[in-house]
Amino acid sequence: MQQEILARLGSFVAALAVLGWLEAARPRRPRVASKARRWTANLGIVAVDTLAVRLLVPLLPVALAALCQEKGLGLLPLLGLTGVGGLVLTLLVLDLAIYYQHRAFHHFRLLWRLHRMHHADLDLDVTSALRFHPGEILLSVVYKLALVALLGPAPLAVLIFEVGLNVCAMFNHANVALPLALDRAVRLALVTPDMHRVHHSTDMREANTNFGFNFPWWDRLLGTYKAQPDKGHENMVIGLNIFREPKFMDLWWMLAQPFLSGRNS
Ligand SMILES: [Zn+2]
Ligand SMILES: [Zn+2]
Repeated sequence: MQQEILARLGSFVAALAVLGWLEAARPRRPRVASKARRWTANLGIVAVDTLAVRLLVPLLPVALAALCQEKGLGLLPLLGLTGVGGLVLTLLVLDLAIYYQHRAFHHFRLLWRLHRMHHADLDLDVTSALRFHPGEILLSVVYKLALVALLGPAPLAVLIFEVGLNVCAMFNHANVALPLALDRAVRLALVTPDMHRVHHSTDMREANTNFGFNFPWWDRLLGTYKAQPDKGHENMVIGLNIFREPKFMDLWWMLAQPFLSGRNS
């Protein structure tokens, strides 16, 4: 438990420091909104989300995986898939499941009401990766618990997946200009900032592409991949066509967004 907290907190602080520094040194786009105001709200959401999960979810995915392992439950142990094979399969299956979860959050109107808060951010940077409504976070935890109960993966595999997902999401939301050749090479294996930025376009045809957070393969295989935004990275507009007033950068208005009227585009 203590090691889990250390791994999560350590990777979070390290990614925030390194990516925050890179954003200052090599920004991809000029900011359109106040960084101080956005960072206060986006980091505030992390506190609200953590509190909501701690208060409402008695058992988290890594702990459930330990329980399943103790009792020999789940598909992976049943098929004898433990060790490295089990780890690789766990990472792939969980990542594909999160890809489909993201598509569902765009497809179903009620889920979109929760998820659109993530898209309402007017700039993209490392803190955008943390900006999810507590309603979405709670549904996501329940979904992961169900997947863990079904698969019965090793607790370490679940921890690696969760820490990897957080760090990758922070990386691919970062406002960092990677050399184009490096972007091309990295996006063969991981979602890059340029790839995920397309997903944050106000043009919903672009926002309904590039759903992946870790691996880019699902988008390529399942027909939702778009390499670059039509208007280019400097000229594309980030966010939604609604919730663009400055007040929507503040925590209370962000939390209220699912209950407000207005559809994007
Ligand atoms: Zn989305
Ligand atoms: Zn995003």
